[in-house]
Amino acid sequence: MVTVTLLGIAQDGGRPQAGCVKQCCHDIAREDWSYPVSLGIIGDDGKGHLIEASRHLTDQLQIWGNNEISSVWLTHAHLGHVDGLGLFGKETMGKTGLNLHLSESMLNLVHNNPFWKALLDQNVFIPTTFEDTDEITLDSGFSIQAVKVPHRDELSDMHAFLLKGEKKNLLFLPDHDTWKETLDFHGVDTIRGFLSKFEVDIALIDGTFWSSNELSGRFQHEVPHPPISQTLEMLGSKNERDPDIFFIHLNHTNPLYFDGPERKILLDSGWKIGVQGSVFEL
Ligand SMILES: [Zn+2]
Ligand SMILES: [Zn+2]
Ligand SMILES: [Zn+2]
Repeated sequence: MVTVTLLGIAQDGGRPQAGCVKQCCHDIAREDWSYPVSLGIIGDDGKGHLIEASRHLTDQLQIWGNNEISSVWLTHAHLGHVDGLGLFGKETMGKTGLNLHLSESMLNLVHNNPFWKALLDQNVFIPTTFEDTDEITLDSGFSIQAVKVPHRDELSDMHAFLLKGEKKNLLFLPDHDTWKETLDFHGVDTIRGFLSKFEVDIALIDGTFWSSNELSGRFQHEVPHPPISQTLEMLGSKNERDPDIFFIHLNHTNPLYFDGPERKILLDSGWKIGVQGSVFEL
């Protein structure tokens, strides 16, 4: 059996977010902290595969209950997806020969960052690049397909991952700019069309912001993600044959962290909110 554990549901900054003195991050108990999005996969051979490397890896390995990692996969270069890479090096875990799967543009960035390059020079990671649509079969009873999506690419491009198990396919799409660009890029008209193109059963998708006015002033335009309210409008209510959709990558300002009207609207429509520590079987 292949299991996928959701090791974090927060946007890159986590929750509480450093420096936030507003109500959203006030007095959150340690056990209620949300870590940046990440997945831990255990294959049917018992090997562990990690998607994203966040600085909260210590806590996330505890949630996962696994320390044996044989490969690491990166979607893109933004902070919370990569800021734990150094933890695999000699100061901490002291790994060697760990398979690192990433895109060509992400690898270029690794080579150009002295800190990350040292991890390659010290043989901590053995990099393997993938391209859009590449499907890599692991000896663990599942495969991972790279699915390119448009997302701010000032550092690297962005690939969602489609995990294909024997029974189910799970899509991990934590970040993208707009549905219009993503759907256009994949030549489909609707979110349902996009998900059925990849035969998705479980979709973990970008739920960074509830609405576009959640951030004030200039940030509104600098941090583009499709607001959940728009995604819900496009989706309508869940039908029996629809995949299960879980919103993840929630910004600390996201009202879904609280039991309010937004949560009710989403749940009443039949969709779900990612729960840190939850496990999916593929
Ligand atoms: Zn992100
Ligand atoms: Zn906050
Ligand atoms: Zn991003």
